[in-house]
Amino acid sequence: MAQLQANDLTLAYDKVTIVDELSLDIPTGEVTIVVGANGCGKSTLLRALSRLLKPAGGKVLLDGQDIHTKPAKEVAKTLGLLPQSPTAPDGITARELISRGRYPHQGLFKRFSAEDEAAVNRALELTGTMELADRAVDELSGGQRQRVWIAMALAQETELLLLDEPTTFLDVAHQLEVLDVISELNRTRGITVVIVLHDLNLAARYADHLVALREGKIYAAGHPNEVVTERTVKDVFGMPSRVIPDPVAGTPLVLPIGRHRVLRTENVLAAQGIVRSPEFVELTKSAVKQEPTVADELQTPVLAPQEVEPAQLRPGAEHLATLAYQCMVMRTQDLTPAFRRITVGGTDLSHFGTNSHSLDMRIKLLLPPAGGSALTEEIAALRPEALSSPAGQEGWYRRWLSIDPSSRGYMRTYTVRAFREVGHRDNLGDTAELDIDFVMHGQVVNGALQGGPATEFADRAQVGDELLLLGPNRALSDETYGGIEFRPGGARRVVLAGDETAAPAICAILEALPANVTGHALIEVPDTDDILGASTRSGVSVQWLTRGTNEHGVLLAAAVKDVVAIPAAGAVHTDADPEDIDIDEQILWETGAAESAPFYAWIAGEAGMVKELRRYLVREAGINRKQVAFMGYWRRGKTEN
Ligand SMILES: Cc1cc2nc3c(=O)[nH]c(=O)nc-3n(C[C@H](O)[C@H](O)[C@H](O)COP(=O)(O)OP(=O)(O)OC[C@H]3O[C@@H](n4cnc5c(N)ncnc54)[C@H](O)[C@@H]3O)c2cc1C
Repeated sequence: MAQLQANDLTLAYDKVTIVDELSLDIPTGEVTIVVGANGCGKSTLLRALSRLLKPAGGKVLLDGQDIHTKPAKEVAKTLGLLPQSPTAPDGITARELISRGRYPHQGLFKRFSAEDEAAVNRALELTGTMELADRAVDELSGGQRQRVWIAMALAQETELLLLDEPTTFLDVAHQLEVLDVISELNRTRGITVVIVLHDLNLAARYADHLVALREGKIYAAGHPNEVVTERTVKDVFGMPSRVIPDPVAGTPLVLPIGRHRVLRTENVLAAQGIVRSPEFVELTKSAVKQEPTVADELQTPVLAPQEVEPAQLRPGAEHLATLAYQCMVMRTQDLTPAFRRITVGGTDLSHFGTNSHSLDMRIKLLLPPAGGSALTEEIAALRPEALSSPAGQEGWYRRWLSIDPSSRGYMRTYTVRAFREVGHRDNLGDTAELDIDFVMHGQVVNGALQGGPATEFADRAQVGDELLLLGPNRALSDETYGGIEFRPGGARRVVLAGDETAAPAICAILEALPANVTGHALIEVPDTDDILGASTRSGVSVQWLTRGTNEHGVLLAAAVKDVVAIPAAGAVHTDADPEDIDIDEQILWETGAAESAPFYAWIAGEAGMVKELRRYLVREAGINRKQVAFMGYWRRGKTEN
């Protein structure tokens, strides 16, 4: 397969530098889409990649050879280009135009051969333009014309196809028609495609590899899930936005914020004498990052709720980073003997999320006391529509803790296994929905499971039951949300290790990992029947360990030692001895954010097991603690709080 690269490429018109020392490897067999603001150099780059523009510095390499040292006709046998807004000669038919694509294959005196004829017919077929073959190109609609141009580039039968803004001036249906044809060609014939596109959402949907250019340099490149972030949109397009998962394709979807609605809201609030302080949003955000632990909370006095002027009251959705979501059980599913999935939904969930993948996002479940309700005054004030003020909400958790559990109920921590917006292809309901995978631990007494309030809830849950949960408010949370601990930074090799309580988080992380990450996922579950499916595009190998009669964590510890040898590859050796933590008194919770280290480990499960792995990884394998997250998800013999 042909390979295309740019090495230190500088491109200039009239001594004005447009592209500056840019290096780029086009992934073979994939669709690469180049995006960027007008004038950032993306079309100029495409011209240079296709040999139309000679670089002022650096080289374009086609199969390792400088493209400018190759004759144009030879390049055209490997690489086809569809320029921006091409014009066809008057009166030419579609078939005649497409036949011109065969030019590089014809010798000086050679006539149009049977082989050429066959190539043209193939191109007509692949682009669905056979019925247009004898029509004049200038009579066709924009979408049809563009398909004919693509057919011309295809008739060239090249392994590489470069297209400059192939959807410009087309309405949205025709834009999709053109991109679907290109995508199908890539999938069915393995053609390497490079497209310059101005529509970021279509680019995120169709690209395998996305390149964002800013002022002639690569700002970010990789899988769309990695590249399309609110930060990139701001820096590359100068536009504040929200990025949410596209409910149709699951790829990132950019929603520009603009000023229109923001100004209107401010006006309405100002008319009611309510002034939004600029620090406010930041304050509520940091409150989530440093989630108070039970121990922290117990050290602070119980504050009575502050009196608040009615004019300062606003719906929680406007100012609370963590909201209480009142949900209903939509489905229950016994996945395996050890795992039960409870799917909840409800209109409150339209406020839920961080506008990014949930990874190992934790939520708190509020389990009602026997015969009572979990909707205490403190929790009710956290509902999205409930009126409250920041001052009035201070210390709510401490107040909730001070109530007798037999009347307030219990709080337990779980993972969002999956969150599906309304309209998601797997959500047929009319509200968003969320899956939670419960480990069914405990003992069956008189036909009912006794294992703790959360497990007992899951055991008895019926469609229509209520469940309250606490989670992020999407209006005030982004991918930096404090309830997500998986922070691998730039690490390309990861180890994910955990027992069954960490399986939902590991499976969710695996689904989000991009193709260029490798490593190991090690998951210890009670039995062979408890092995769940895990899917990933990454190169991470997934190993399920079945405990059987072994002690909890023994197999996992051995497997971690196998994959993280001493000294660990990519580890920054520190020789540090981790300080002892009394896991029966304290929560074992150490999470670092890897920045540029090549290796990152994420370990969760029973606290004793995690402590053992922490000792091995930090002391014996010498891994820097910034490169590891150690999380005691539960402690043998202890309830969560
Ligand atoms: C960030 C985070 C994410 C989590 N995600 C999940 C998740 O997605 N799914 C999940 O099932 N759990 C998850 N957990 C673990 C879960 O919070 C605990 O297992 C919790 O204790 C269960 O609550 P409970 O009411 O059933 O039991 P509790 O009332 O807390 O405990 C009752 C008894 O059961 C024991 N026990 C608790 N959990 C287990 C277990 N798994 N196996 C055997 N004995 C146990 C306790 O030691 C105690 O003796 C997560 C924990 C954290 C911190």
